Amino acid sequence: MKSVLIVDDSVVSRKMLAKLIESSGYTVASQAINGKEALELYKKLSPDVVTMDITMPEMNGMDALKMIRDYDPDAKVILITAAGQIEKKELAMEYGAAAFITKPYDNQDILDAIEKC
Ligand SMILES: [Mg+2]
Repeated sequence: MKSVLIVDDSVVSRKMLAKLIESSGYTVASQAINGKEALELYKKLSPDVVTMDITMPEMNGMDALKMIRDYDPDAKVILITAAGQIEKKELAMEYGAAAFITKPYDNQDILDAIEKC
């Protein structure tokens, strides 16, 4: 069973994702509220998949993606971000993102991306 680390500064977004992930047979490894916490929890828990918001205080999702992939070149990070961030997609893929999904998202797109990881 895949474990997923949810990273988002919005409690509502985290709750929605957690509900989706758990109801689909995956495990929520933990939840992080910014990129810094995400990196710490990634090192501690080695989740199979990370869902990553981009706009967050302290450390944004792009920097966290890069640092997590520097730490673990096999890390599977799915970026989930506001529509206005689409210009970041190219750089995210360069950093090795597993997928890039814009909000509002279809639940199935998230599940498909996790499944592919
Ligand atoms: Mg955010």
